[in-house]
Amino acid sequence: MSTLEKLAPAASVFDLAKIRADFPILSESVRGGRLAYLDNAATTQKPEAVLRAMDHYYRHQNSNVHRAVHDLAERATMAYEGARDRIARFFNVSREQVVFTRGTTEAINLVAYSFLQPKLQAGDEILLTGMEHHSNIVPWQLVAAQAGAKVVAAPINDDGSLDFDGWRAMLNPRTRFVATGHVSNTLGTINPVAEMIAEAHARGIPVLVDGAQAIAHLSVDIPTLGADFYVCSAHKAYGPTGFGALLAKREHLDAMPPWHGGGDMIRTVSFEGSTWNEPPYRFEAGTPDMAGAVGFAAALDYIDGIGLAAMAAHEHALLLEGTARLREIPGLRLIGTAAHKGAILSFVMDCAHAQDIGTVLDQEGIAVRTGHHCTMPLMARFGVPATVRASFAAYNNQEDVDQLVRGLAKARRLFA
Ligand code: PMP
Repeated sequence: MSTLEKLAPAASVFDLAKIRADFPILSESVRGGRLAYLDNAATTQKPEAVLRAMDHYYRHQNSNVHRAVHDLAERATMAYEGARDRIARFFNVSREQVVFTRGTTEAINLVAYSFLQPKLQAGDEILLTGMEHHSNIVPWQLVAAQAGAKVVAAPINDDGSLDFDGWRAMLNPRTRFVATGHVSNTLGTINPVAEMIAEAHARGIPVLVDGAQAIAHLSVDIPTLGADFYVCSAHKAYGPTGFGALLAKREHLDAMPPWHGGGDMIRTVSFEGSTWNEPPYRFEAGTPDMAGAVGFAAALDYIDGIGLAAMAAHEHALLLEGTARLREIPGLRLIGTAAHKGAILSFVMDCAHAQDIGTVLDQEGIAVRTGHHCTMPLMARFGVPATVRASFAAYNNQEDVDQLVRGLAKARRLFA
């Protein structure tokens, strides 16, 4: 499916009441009252369709994959490999380009160890941005340290956007690799990844895009973006936890050595030496998470059933409303106000630490995240130890925004 087809608004009617009813957990009572779930950047809730697909897998299809002739083994393999086809279609890549992983973190580590480490030499640079999640910093530091290479990070503007010229100026003949987030989990900033990839490729530098915060909110057509590696987690896109994918150019996967050894990733094994399976299986050692794959595929069906464009438009409306309402609160400072941003509101208040604000909000049934959000360098950039972060998904509504604003007013009354 083309990007334009995915974006076509005619693809769906956005029925918020129906969408909310699809998520059983939204009717849970918390602290004795209504739940306003605004911690979607940490993990989204799961719709019935995903829960049912995973339940169905274990009730009717479960066996081990790839290894037997019996009927259930065939069903399990069909379910698992069918999920690979579904995920490939969502990102407009071929099935051989889809490597299943435990999530974004594992996918980045796979690229760091299997693709980059063998190429890294002393003095090489790996260029990141100053807004990366720790999972898109630490794996690069680990491989850089072994090679005597260096991790460098591009500056961030005061509004939380990337200083693109500053980033481009850091590309140099020593730059061996570029990694960037697509959407910042702390600020919501949407990075100009297509332009970044074009600039890096013009200099022969491969690029990894961390799409953890993007895939449930933006249409991602990987060939159009041109990313060498695109990584994501199912659980941030209405799918199960502990599952995700590396989507990579075929020529890279073909040339990459295995990084985990075990069953399924081999072609032959003898004590004299072993030979490796084709990608993607070369990178999927051991029994995989079949139900996870099925759940991820069901989540992508769910997203396509509503339409990503409609979901994003709804979230954007909530972002605009939330931004305007939070700006009216005295002593509240929004962190991350880039023109191009997803539905994430990060802020601090002068009356109390983020942790205390979060505790008051929790008493009011509002689930937000407080802390450094695994972006400690970004906290340092903005001179704060922590923020409160409210992040939206397609099922959030006006009442959630109202509840948040009421909760913050209460926090102010208590602490100011
Ligand atoms: N990158 C970003 C931008 C994220 O938001 C997250 C999750 N918070 C990750 C990477 C890591 O994802 P996971 O924990 O699912 O591997």
